[in-house]
Amino acid sequence: MAEKVDHIGIAVNNIEEALKFYRDQLGLNMNGIEEVPEQKVKVAFLPVGESKIELLQSTDPEGAIAKYINTRGEGIQHVALRVDNIREKLAELKAQGVKLIDEEPRRGAGGSQIAFIHPKSTGGVLLELCERDT
Ligand code: ZN
Repeated sequence: MAEKVDHIGIAVNNIEEALKFYRDQLGLNMNGIEEVPEQKVKVAFLPVGESKIELLQSTDPEGAIAKYINTRGEGIQHVALRVDNIREKLAELKAQGVKLIDEEPRRGAGGSQIAFIHPKSTGGVLLELCERDT
């Protein structure tokens, strides 16, 4: 079962610039900026109630976020759903023929385990599954 929307991932050219709106003008709190080398991104999480906004800035021109911004510009890049057991969920989806980008979970920000589901199976949305303790 998916528990909730864990976060909404927004691709930005520059996190510091984006924080001028999300933190300074909108007034959200920011938990700090973390680099995730595996994903070639820097991320900032801003809690909104039980969910978060995740700002993503590419650290590599070949990274997924850089490619996304090149073709589509800044904007919502993915939606992440929290699950209890990501391995079990991935196996269930795979068995049903859902097109997965990651068949095995990989490391996400904040010690989470994440995996992406292909937009071809989700109505055009890049969907992330996310398992984390807190
Ligand atoms: Zn994410």
